[in-house]
Amino acid sequence: MGGTFDPIHHGHLVAASEVAQSFDLDEVIFVPTGMPPHKRVVTEAEHRYLMTVIATAANPRFTVSRVDIDRHETTYTIDTLRDLKKARPDADFVFITGADAVAQIFTWKNVQELWDLAHFVAVSRPGHVVSLSDLPEGDVSWLEVPALAISSTDCRSRVERGFPVWYLVPDGVVQYISKHHLYRSTS
Ligand code: ATP
Ligand code: MG
Repeated sequence: MGGTFDPIHHGHLVAASEVAQSFDLDEVIFVPTGMPPHKRVVTEAEHRYLMTVIATAANPRFTVSRVDIDRHETTYTIDTLRDLKKARPDADFVFITGADAVAQIFTWKNVQELWDLAHFVAVSRPGHVVSLSDLPEGDVSWLEVPALAISSTDCRSRVERGFPVWYLVPDGVVQYISKHHLYRSTS
């Protein structure tokens, strides 16, 4: 599961857990992006990586990969999948993405090769209606997951305004954000 994870929240974790269950996955690898191609400036990669480690540490099936943040260049999913495949040549990969992100797959680099490297699973996300005809032609499945109307954008905005993010993100992530003064305009 790729993401900016700025910060990681319970929407990500529920989506990962539900796909793991439904598709009988041995492991979910969370891959924090390096520099996303279409995004605002994001928080330092090490902070996003460590928050992802903290959030996933207790689940024996959840791991975190540094492939994207160690590449030190714009992150394209094709490179993520190539690197993961190199490290695990025998694994069958499932790429987990939210309903808002799946339409963008059309615009991704080397889209044809993507289908060869992974099976894509799009999960439902509150506020994003996806009709099946919107899904790109190819290897994409659709999975309805329990609705959590949480976004990292909202979490950042809440911290900036002094609102709590308890129960939206894991406890350790709340404490990490506070310890490192993340998302405060004055930091
Ligand atoms: P931002 O608001 O900064 O874009 P985000 O909450 O969308 O953050 P990302 O790191 O962009 O989080 O998302 C990583 C992946 O997780 C994407 O595929 C996204 O669609 C999916 N995702 C994020 N939040 C949810 C959620 N609440 N339910 C289901 N999927 C989600
Ligand atoms: Mg997003």
